[in-house]
Amino acid sequence: MHALGPIRALRPRLQRLTASLVKRRTPIAAEPRDPPRDIALRPSHVFLSRQIPIAVARSRPRAHLVAMAVPPSPKRVNGNKSPKAAKAKAKAPARSPTEDIEDLIGKHPSLASIRDDAPRLRDELLAWYDKSHRILPWRRNFHSHHAPPPPGPQGGDGCEPKEYWAGCDETGAPTNVPRDQYAYGVWVSEIMSQQTQIERVAQYWLRWTERWPDVSSLASATREEVNELWAGLGYYRRAGFLLDGARHVVDNCDTIFPNDAKGLANVPGVGPYTAAAIASIAFDEPVAAVDGNVIRVCTRLAAVTGGGDAAKPSSDAAKAVRLCADWLIDDSTRPGDFNQAMMELGATVCTPKAPACGQCPLRVGCAGAALESAGSSGFKVTDLPEKEKKPEKREERVAVRVVERKGGRRDGVPGPADSSFLLVRRPEGGLLGGLWEFPSANVPDNLEPGDPDFYASCADVVHSCGSSGKFSKSRVGLGEVTHTFSHVRHTYVAQHEVWETSADDDGDEAPPTRGDTAGGREWRWVTATELQTLGLSSGVRKIYELLTKREQAKKAPRESAIGKLFAKKAKRGE
Ligand code: SF4
Repeated sequence: MHALGPIRALRPRLQRLTASLVKRRTPIAAEPRDPPRDIALRPSHVFLSRQIPIAVARSRPRAHLVAMAVPPSPKRVNGNKSPKAAKAKAKAPARSPTEDIEDLIGKHPSLASIRDDAPRLRDELLAWYDKSHRILPWRRNFHSHHAPPPPGPQGGDGCEPKEYWAGCDETGAPTNVPRDQYAYGVWVSEIMSQQTQIERVAQYWLRWTERWPDVSSLASATREEVNELWAGLGYYRRAGFLLDGARHVVDNCDTIFPNDAKGLANVPGVGPYTAAAIASIAFDEPVAAVDGNVIRVCTRLAAVTGGGDAAKPSSDAAKAVRLCADWLIDDSTRPGDFNQAMMELGATVCTPKAPACGQCPLRVGCAGAALESAGSSGFKVTDLPEKEKKPEKREERVAVRVVERKGGRRDGVPGPADSSFLLVRRPEGGLLGGLWEFPSANVPDNLEPGDPDFYASCADVVHSCGSSGKFSKSRVGLGEVTHTFSHVRHTYVAQHEVWETSADDDGDEAPPTRGDTAGGREWRWVTATELQTLGLSSGVRKIYELLTKREQAKKAPRESAIGKLFAKKAKRGE
């Protein structure tokens, strides 16, 4: 189901618009376009589809790229079709890549003007990027801006390592950092930037690369260490991807980072987009990196309507976007900067809800903006990219026990002020795998928090962690908080349990601080300070905030009463 089905009615108008755009830029006495000298498959086309490889007519032969192309897999061509259908398909005459391109242009006519105008659009985009891109610590080539001269040895604005000002080679890579290490930094920045604001990423990137400056140092880190440094950045699976990726490079690639998109795609956690981004930025490979920003820019630039959800690689819209991005980057001498410029444009100018077309370097030549200006059927560029309606997220209720132990000994030091919280580690592999959380369990819809069984399902974990000591226990409800994941929405219903040790327990042996539950899950007691530095999911942080807000609310009336008393005394001159 497409949210914008009626937009297909715009097609005749688009065809006229494309004709006028092409006419405007084609010299009157122009010769017909030269037939392509060769048809070369680029590595990026492998990601597009193994069944229908799209080829690009290039002006110069690139035999090594042709050799890298993967032929269509016979298994995939037939897929799960019946023998009859497979036979019919086998008899169908093979389509040439050029025919596939013409098909796409037939469906999305403004693609033709992008192809013809690609060199100018690319130059405009790069000129804009050189002038106005954001300063980021991993952008370190001679086109990159940097912060004002440093006041001290580390200097800058806190976002710039001092090596930033060092020289670059002819491809733009920094000369003071080995190429392999440069690629490592780009890889870390790309993984960190997924679904996260770039400004937040910069600080984390600096801390990460300072602690693990290269792939071999990262490979020897523990999962707990990477989760701790990642704390607060969200989507912890990405920290695991970096660790697994580093171990893969060390174990399978002689600790040398793969230097092309094909090799990079074998690194765990590196998909087609990330592989293309690293290959182009660090190794100068002219392969388009297509992320959500680039999809938005290309669908608007080429007015890609009615081709399905461009985020789904098999859709016509996705193929049109791929073609548009490939034409734009083709033959670029600065493929890394070009890819970053497209992403930057999508993030800062061609934004989802409020594109600033008036300040866009691609405004002349943008079919979507032209269509909007023409007032066609109420079309707006914000209608693109078209998206399929997502299925409703699953709803789950989770009972959470925030167990706090007060008094007694901890680490051999007695003291009633000691306070620690019980955490258990989630199983590896699943949602939030390997992260620490308060004991929790899903509860069926028919149970309410007042029901004695509501918190019973996480009792096995709690019983394994020293609950058999001499404690007086009190419980109070903390309320609810929700957290949404990509496919499920959790409503956490939390309860605060306080276990207080009686005074005569002070001489007893200190209770254990960590161990395993009967079900094999790791548990540990941590102080409130340790809680802040551990790798905790956003959901767990929200639950902890419920507790801290409640504690503050409890203190507030007392503090205001004391304040009033002092105010009265001050008034009386006491
Ligand atoms: S002109 Fe507008 S719609 Fe077109 S690419 Fe630029 S910002 Fe996006």
